[in-house]
Formats: sequence, structure tokens, C-alpha cells
Amino acid sequence: MANSHKLGLTARIVIGMVAGLVVGFLFKFLLAEQDERHLLLFGMALPLKAFFVDGIFHIGGEIFIASLKMLVVPLVFVSLVCGTCSLSDTSKLGRLGGKAIGLYLVTTAIAISLAIGFALLFTPGAGVNMVADQTYDVSQAPTLAQVFINIFPSNPIESMAKGNMLQIIVFAVLFGLAIALSGKAGERLAAMFSDLNEVIMKLVTLLMNLAPYGVFFLMAKLFSTMGDYETIISLGKYFSVVLGVLLLHGLVSYPILLKALSGLNPWVFMLKMRDAALFGFSTSSSNATIPVTLETVNNKMGVKNSISSFTVPLGATINMDGTAIMQGVATVFIAQVFLVDLTLTDFLMVILTATLASIGTAGVPGVGLIMLAMVLQQVGLPVEGIALIIGVDRLLDMTRTAVNVTGDAMVSCIVAKSEGELDQAIFNDPKAGLKQEDIDFHHLR
Ligand code: ASP
Repeated sequence: MANSHKLGLTARIVIGMVAGLVVGFLFKFLLAEQDERHLLLFGMALPLKAFFVDGIFHIGGEIFIASLKMLVVPLVFVSLVCGTCSLSDTSKLGRLGGKAIGLYLVTTAIAISLAIGFALLFTPGAGVNMVADQTYDVSQAPTLAQVFINIFPSNPIESMAKGNMLQIIVFAVLFGLAIALSGKAGERLAAMFSDLNEVIMKLVTLLMNLAPYGVFFLMAKLFSTMGDYETIISLGKYFSVVLGVLLLHGLVSYPILLKALSGLNPWVFMLKMRDAALFGFSTSSSNATIPVTLETVNNKMGVKNSISSFTVPLGATINMDGTAIMQGVATVFIAQVFLVDLTLTDFLMVILTATLASIGTAGVPGVGLIMLAMVLQQVGLPVEGIALIIGVDRLLDMTRTAVNVTGDAMVSCIVAKSEGELDQAIFNDPKAGLKQEDIDFHHLR
């Protein structure tokens, strides 16, 4: 234990990730069917697969994701109630809501415009002659009216049971406001929520210490069961354009926006963001990453809980720049494959639909494809085109989730700075938050 703690959390997570990747590839290589390699295992291939891939890796990964998700609802509710009832001035709520939503929409629109621009430049779908070998079911896309109605909970317990983030946010904000207006009774309850918040945050850091193992299992399972690499090669141009724009947006647009709108040092921001981005990458879920994003933004970047408890869960739901990038490139790709010419109005429609679609859909793995169905329908492209890109979507989902999570944190910093709710000393301190993360399990014995 003492030894492992010499390495920082990021290093341990990266080691877990790389080890998982190597082990996953090894299993994929050894378990490849119809191959003489099978013989090397003396008939042990199936039992090995059942024991490791479908057994240990699968169980370990699922437990890790479940335990992260377990914290999301209590954490969002408790920290948002704390955040709202500690707001000195309730009119601030409307202002910071407006700023956060505005920034989330603007960054998403920038992301998708970049994606469309680069896709038109590199024409990933030109000359591709593919037949979809999978089908795609489109029944799940919600209508815009539904999206707005669904923001308001009719039963908050049901919203929590279903993990409906926007409904939980609405209820928590109202509850927090009521606490602030309830005099002595409110003060007692606020003190209790504040203690509860501290305990849940401790649970988050406790879990983060187990992340290297969780990440190992997730990677090992993913890479031992991943489809054929030929799919990636045949879709290489599409894959590279999406990846390139994701990196461009994450590593160039964000730093520029952060510097321009808040004056904060983007390099420091990026360095501090690394653990949360790795969590996003390995879980493919902005929602499951909320506890880690919140911990990073509060403890390492100095954003006050009154801002982050609102902006982070909101961002995990409505801010999906990475997803919008995939949608922009995918729309152009599918139009090129099916030889459809998109007009300028179509592109504007794509930008609008993709930006609005991100509001009503939660940050969970694969949701980007459902949103893509809405976008394609809007401009009259065949939705079956999605089947063409499913094969490489898993890896892109991981990368775009890391971008989504980084965007949530960046907007939180900008809003907090503009509201005077960011502690610059914490932001500039390279060691901030690291101590809280380092939990010594010994005294539990
Ligand atoms: N997995 C993404 C997220 O959770 C959403 C998506 O692009 O599918 O942010």
C-alpha cells in the first residue's frame, strides 16, 4: 500500500488502462476462432474466455461502473441542495443558469460547425461503397416538446430512481431555495445537508482510489471482445476525422475559450483535468463521471460548490460537444456515402438539431447515436446510415465522452470566475486536492 501511494492517482489509472489494453489484446489474439492459435491453448479457449473475459473482466468492470453510478443521484441532489441554499442572493441563480446554458449551447454549436467544416474538407464518405451489415432501430428519439415537458418532475422519487438528471436538478434547486427561505428550520436542515455532502464526497474519493482496478477490467473486457479491426480500417477516414476534430476541440478550442473568457491558465486547467478525462474515457459516460468531475472542479480548480453543484450535472446532461462533433462528421459522411447533396440550410438545421438534441438526452454510453437519428431525420438522410458507423462507435464514444467532461469543467470554471466564486489560489496550486484523494485505508481496520 505504501508503495502504491508513491505513484499519483493518474499514473495508477494509466497503468491500469495500459495493462487492461495489453491483456485484452492478448486474449483477443489467443481466443481468435478458426485459427491454429486456438490449438496452443489445448482446448482451454472456451473455459478461459468464460472465466476471464465473461467472468472476472466483465464482473469487475460492471461493479466499477455501478459503484460510480451509485453515487451520482445522492451526490447531485445533496450538493445541489447545499449549493442553492448557500447562495447569498437568489437572483444569482437565474443569472448563472443563463450563463451556463448559454455557454454550453455556444460551445456545442462551435464544435459541430468545426466538425462539418473538417468533414467537408476531408470528404470521409467519398468513394465509400458500403452495405450496412447491421440494422439500427430508431424508435427512441424524443420529440422537442417531450424534451421540454420532461424537464419537470411529477414525482421526484421516480426521477431519482430513474436517474433523470434535469428533473433531479429542478427538484433540488426548488428544495434548496425553500430551505433558504425557511428560517431556523432551514438552517438546521442546511447544516445537515452540508455534513451529508462532505460524507458523500469522501465516498467519491474512496472510490477513485479503486479506479485503477476498475479501469483495468473495463479495458481488458473491451479489447478482448472488440469487433474486427478491418471495420476500423475500412472506416479509417471517418474515424480519423472524428478523432482529429475531437482532439482539436479539446486541446485547442477549449484552452482558447478558457483564456479568452476567464483569463485562467489553460495549461494548468488541462493538467488538473486529466483524471476526470480518463474516467470519462474509460466509462464512456459523462453521467457516471459526475462525481469525479465535481471533485476535480471543487478541490483542484477552486470552484465553489454553489456554482459547480449546478453546472456540472447540468453539463453532463446538456453539454455534449464531443457527441456533436461525431454527429457533424457522421452526417456529412452518410450524405457522401448515399450521394446526397446537403444545402446550407440543411447544415444550419444539423447544427440546430444537434445542439438542441443534446439537451434532452442523458450522458450515457452510446446515446450519441440516438441523437444522430434525430439529426438525420431532420435533414432527410437515411437513418440506416447509422449502421455503417456503429462498428467504430465504441472507441469514438470513449474519446468524445472525455471531451464532453472537459467541456463541463471548463464552463464551470468560466462561470465561477465571472461570478467571483473561483478561488484562484487553489486553481494555481498544482498540489490542490491531491491530499484529499489520497485515502489511507489502514485506519479502517
Ligand atoms: N457517451 C457520451 C457521454 O456520456 C454520450 C455519447 O456521445 O454517446 O457523454
